[in-house]
Amino acid sequence: MSAGVRDETPMVEVVDLHKEFGDAHVLRGVDLTVPTGSVCVVLGPSGSGKSTALRCINQLESITAGRIYVDGELMGFREGTHRGAPALFALHPREIARQRTKIGMVFQRFNLFPHMTALGNVVEAQVQVLGRSKSAARARAVELLERVGLTDHRDHYPAQLSGGQQQRVAIARALAMDPELMLFDEPTSALDPELVGEVLAVMRSLAETGMTMIVVTHEIGFAREVADQVVFMADGVVVEQGLPEQVLTSPREARTQDFLARVL
Ligand code: ADP
Ligand code: MG
Repeated sequence: MSAGVRDETPMVEVVDLHKEFGDAHVLRGVDLTVPTGSVCVVLGPSGSGKSTALRCINQLESITAGRIYVDGELMGFREGTHRGAPALFALHPREIARQRTKIGMVFQRFNLFPHMTALGNVVEAQVQVLGRSKSAARARAVELLERVGLTDHRDHYPAQLSGGQQQRVAIARALAMDPELMLFDEPTSALDPELVGEVLAVMRSLAETGMTMIVVTHEIGFAREVADQVVFMADGVVVEQGLPEQVLTSPREARTQDFLARVL
């Protein structure tokens, strides 16, 4: 576990999470605990439910059953009683929006605003969502763009940036919301191979600051070097999880072995 681990309450606790899309039972009882300050890398074949799990944690999808706690807070619901029995009540969308501000997410596609500079992209949500002043938002954006190595590119538009640079802007934009948890969904999968390293380097340095991170990736080297925990998902469940060394070098489950044999 990395040096950033602060306390006993896990940053994320997913308990028996189920998600159905119509007849498709996509998540079939996912359990996952991510200690505060740790990095969890999620591996698994396409279609196994990795993105759906991240989207549920981030409240981009409603869940069918189960519970998700982030920083000890139940996501999406309030606990109460109905006719004397314990019951859950869906939160107001405004409350869900507040919960979501704790979580930063970086997608495979960077989705920057094309008509705004790198700096403008990092400023925007700080003003719109957090209500920061323009000058405070700008100061924070300047600092974060420096952290992701883009000081010289802050006045460039997305079309003038490489994919790796755009993804680093997207990371800075997520960090500008001061999240307690960062979710990465295949952040390097859309990049040309020579641009993957610069994005992984930014993620690694973020991990070193003690940020809690869940990273879906096929970058096994990153998993080996940066993860505190590796989780292998298939068919909507966690098949195997453990220390990187254990899961990557001597997986117990046949499905994990087959998957690793294909990606390594
Ligand atoms: P992964 O990220 O591991 O590749 P996903 O979570 O994207 O897997 O998808 C898991 C399964 O859920 C797939 O079969 C996919 O087709 C299905 N799925 C994902 N999103 C939706 C949706 N909005 N509606 C219907 N099916 C979906
Ligand atoms: Mg996916």
